[in-house]
Amino acid sequence: MDFLTFMSVFLLLISTSCYGLSENHHGDEEGGLLVVAPAKQQKEFDYFLLALLWPGTLCQGTNHCCSANACCRSNATSMFTIHGLWVNYNDGTWPACCNNGSNFDIKKITPLLGGLQIYWPSLSCNLESTCDGGKGLFWAHEWEKHGTCATPVIWDEYTYFLTTLNIYFKYNITKILIEEGYIPSNSEKYPLGGIVSAIQNAVRATPLLVCSDGAVQELRLCFCKNFEPQDCPNNVTPEEACPRYVSLPEYVPRKV
Ligand code: 5GP
Repeated sequence: MDFLTFMSVFLLLISTSCYGLSENHHGDEEGGLLVVAPAKQQKEFDYFLLALLWPGTLCQGTNHCCSANACCRSNATSMFTIHGLWVNYNDGTWPACCNNGSNFDIKKITPLLGGLQIYWPSLSCNLESTCDGGKGLFWAHEWEKHGTCATPVIWDEYTYFLTTLNIYFKYNITKILIEEGYIPSNSEKYPLGGIVSAIQNAVRATPLLVCSDGAVQELRLCFCKNFEPQDCPNNVTPEEACPRYVSLPEYVPRKV
């Protein structure tokens, strides 16, 4: 799909209401479980979730470096990076690996690679598991596991990555937080409620934060199928839940 065609589809979807597409379920209606099944049997998802990573927290666990690991970059960036665009069911489960025929092909996203390397980098040297049991790039993992389940809104790899970048840029969470005084710091702690309110005010929907040892590790934004923001359900596990005061550690490049 070329860019103009994509934008037409995107604008068409924007013009529908938040729940305008959600009655279009098909296939297996049993739901309730994490289903890994061929696309034919896959129940249609209910909403999108954009998962963002905070490198300042995740890179603290870096033990060795390689060129593929953005934690090892010398130009320190204190910004949320993309984890993935996921699709979820309202009951708290999600589909995964919906089309094993849609193996990741880096050639299909050549025009996007510059942006992906900056804003959707791997934060590890390890290859990730792919749906066929192999190992591949972080992007391959995200497309095969999550992107292939985004039909009928997203049908192809290029649109999956372009759509994700577009939403990421539209809701610039790092900028929103910095403008409200939530500056990356290795000494400050910030009220979780203040961070959530800042995002609610800017995005008009409630995000979900995931922490590790009191530090923000992941921030999730939820969207209807027409990409209008919607509240995220608060379904993190107790181990991932953030305390009342959280830190936003500064990104320290690892030279190990
Ligand atoms: P990934 O496999 O994309 O790197 O990360 C997804 C991880 O997040 C998995 O371990 C999955 O079990 C977990 N996860 C936690 N909450 C959600 C959610 O709301 N949706 C999806 N799709 N995965 C989630």
